[in-house]
Amino acid sequence: MISKNKHAKSSNQIIADARRDKEEREKGYREKSLKMYPWVCGRCARTFDHKTVRELTVHHKDHNHDNNPEDGSNWELLCLYCHDNEHSRYEEQMRYGSSSAATKENHSSTGHNPFANLKALLESKK
Ligand SMILES: [Zn+2]
Ligand SMILES: [Zn+2]
Repeated sequence: MISKNKHAKSSNQIIADARRDKEEREKGYREKSLKMYPWVCGRCARTFDHKTVRELTVHHKDHNHDNNPEDGSNWELLCLYCHDNEHSRYEEQMRYGSSSAATKENHSSTGHNPFANLKALLESKK
């Protein structure tokens, strides 16, 4: 192979490089996760073999495709259908918001007492 690095890279070349890097990285985590996990969909438990494995996809649990820890903790193998489902559910959550996240903050400041209920329970038995 002859090195082509003699000339400064054009912006097109840089974009092409970036795209290739991204594709290679995607291929990398897919291969890694397929080696790491059994070929089973994490939702519907459908199993895959060498013929059907292209319908098995790598889902990022935190939906951040740049977060690819080596231990695979952010990956989940899902079939195409369940993967689709997972994403539409996530998008709905983003769109309509979840009320639990907003109210969580208030709990610690009210000094919640885990024994309050118990005390009331004991007193009601008298
Ligand atoms: Zn599935
Ligand atoms: Zn996904």
